[in-house]
Amino acid sequence: MLEVHGLSVAYGAIEAVKDVSFTVAEGQIVCLVGANGAGKTTTLRTISGLLRPSRGEIIFQGRPIHRLPAHEVLAAGIAHCPEGRRLFSGLTVEENLLLGAHLRRDRQIESDLARVYDLFPVLGERRTQRAGLFSGGEQQMVAIGRAMMARPKLVMFDEPTMGLSPIMIQRIMDTLALLRDQGTTILMVEQNALAALTLADHGHVVDLGRTTLQGPGEHLLADPRIREAYLG
Ligand code: ATP
Repeated sequence: MLEVHGLSVAYGAIEAVKDVSFTVAEGQIVCLVGANGAGKTTTLRTISGLLRPSRGEIIFQGRPIHRLPAHEVLAAGIAHCPEGRRLFSGLTVEENLLLGAHLRRDRQIESDLARVYDLFPVLGERRTQRAGLFSGGEQQMVAIGRAMMARPKLVMFDEPTMGLSPIMIQRIMDTLALLRDQGTTILMVEQNALAALTLADHGHVVDLGRTTLQGPGEHLLADPRIREAYLG
């Protein structure tokens, strides 16, 4: 569904992504793991159309997308749930969710809202409260719901468990598995390599701007090099 070939991305003179290649098959959860500053967030922002690659290409459903502006990448079916959640804290939960549907003109927005509230009942119960009042885990639920409101074919999650309690991490991971089982393809970036590789169908290690090891999540978890570098 998504192919990234030989991607390089620079911030001025700093080449943050040097040579990243991976594919995401439809219906899978694919995870990029790696240390701080390895280039994972930069890779997702480039797929989203927020940054331009200096080399390489990004193909989504057979079509090159690396020169498209962000709104066209979203319209093509890729939603981005960014690091740090980036909610509008002064807007209500429901207003934040509806922002995820801002490019849509169809009549199913109400039923998709209901689907998000089914997934996360606490959001439905508190839909008129300001998002800034919610806990970190609840705000992550809003961010996931907002991404789903775009009806994406593929969703990218950047560090969805950052700063959350173990119970909430499990809840978020279970939700991602459910979304996959309901037909959404997922690309995620996580520093929590144990949780991410336990969930992922396939994983790629990003090291200093390059993809290195890759394989099914359970194979990477069992790899001594991964255990030493990322699992302590
Ligand atoms: P983290 O998990 O800490 O977010 P990451 O793997 O997502 O790490 P990136 O955020 O993509 O890594 O950063 C890759 C490199 O690019 C780092 O060296 C970082 O300092 C640098 N970088 C990121 N954003 C910018 C920016 N806006 N301007 C200049 N350098 C940047």
